[in-house]
Amino acid sequence: MTQTATQEQKPAFREVLSKEHTRRGKPPLHFADMTQEERVSKAQELGLARFRAKQLANHYFAHHDVAAADFSDFPAADRELVSQAFFPELIKEETRQIADQGTTVKTLWELFDGARIESVLMRYPKRATLCISSQVGCGMDCPFCATGRMGLTRNMSTGEILEQVRVAAWSMEAGEIAGGPGRLSNVVFMGMGEPMANYKSVLGAVRQICAAPPEGFGISARNITISTVGVVPGIRKLTAEGLPVRLAVSLHAPSDQLRDELVPMNRRFNTSQVLDAAHDYYLTSKRRVSIEYALMRGINDQAEHARLLAKRLNHYGDDWAHVNPIPLNPIEGSRWTASKPEDEQTFLDILHRAGIAATLRDTRGEDIDGACGQLAAKQGGSRSEEAKA
Ligand code: SF4
Repeated sequence: MTQTATQEQKPAFREVLSKEHTRRGKPPLHFADMTQEERVSKAQELGLARFRAKQLANHYFAHHDVAAADFSDFPAADRELVSQAFFPELIKEETRQIADQGTTVKTLWELFDGARIESVLMRYPKRATLCISSQVGCGMDCPFCATGRMGLTRNMSTGEILEQVRVAAWSMEAGEIAGGPGRLSNVVFMGMGEPMANYKSVLGAVRQICAAPPEGFGISARNITISTVGVVPGIRKLTAEGLPVRLAVSLHAPSDQLRDELVPMNRRFNTSQVLDAAHDYYLTSKRRVSIEYALMRGINDQAEHARLLAKRLNHYGDDWAHVNPIPLNPIEGSRWTASKPEDEQTFLDILHRAGIAATLRDTRGEDIDGACGQLAAKQGGSRSEEAKA
């Protein structure tokens, strides 16, 4: 790829990441960060029998429970020890916002170092979907996005990512979400951060989300979506994993000229490279790729954009992608705002007429700072950032 001068000046996401990450230190090691062998060794270090590791996995993955003080199958004298060694508190609820008659719950979590992230649980008639964060902030710098404005603070550990899932699974079972007790069925990596820029921790989490209990939460890999802004090496790596997870690509623009402006990562991996990689993912996984497209008034939501998008997708053949246009949930004081409903409809009609599967995504939680990063941005991003100021 030929690089422009601007590209050369811009640091790569990995460089930004490692500098920040080293400065912050790592979150405490948690049960969810360990392999099963490491759990056994740790149990033995504490003077516990090997089988105790399996019992703990059963508590964690099958019952979504970390309250070791109440583990009646453990000797009372060992419970405190177990709690400290395996289940340090990684995410602490700071604020909770509820919308859509109690079926949407957005939670702001504080991490061990004062950093803040969010997750959103959305209950529908036939499924319950949790949208989770994989990084504190995001280094991708999309100008219309609240998280992008915060910049990247650090990567999240596998344990921090999985704890969002465990707590949501527990809330569903406990009937905390309107509609009575139920089951968490879907997980989407569409919260704060770029999952491909924290690949190892994200994949570690994905494997445990989809493994059957007591090795994992038992949520089908087909119900897990990994979203990326177009980090091509990450898409290629995921393709090679052979997991039937869904890939979602946040395209937001059909041409390089426009996408360079809306998604700075496009200057590194352009639309052709991103679509090539996405199509290869489809060919290998046999899973239709989701194309996410935030509709921004007068920017990327006109008929010409829809026509070009359809042409770019049809270039690869039929039925390999599903477009999800979603009206932008604007951030305060931003010049990027949501499309007019009539433009949304025209956009959708053009795609349909061109034979492209497309569904206008609902905007759950619009009244609760629904776009990724809005709640955290409002709360000042991270405590550590405040301390620095
Ligand atoms: S839109 Fe996604 S990739 Fe872009 S800055 Fe926001 S969180 Fe990061």
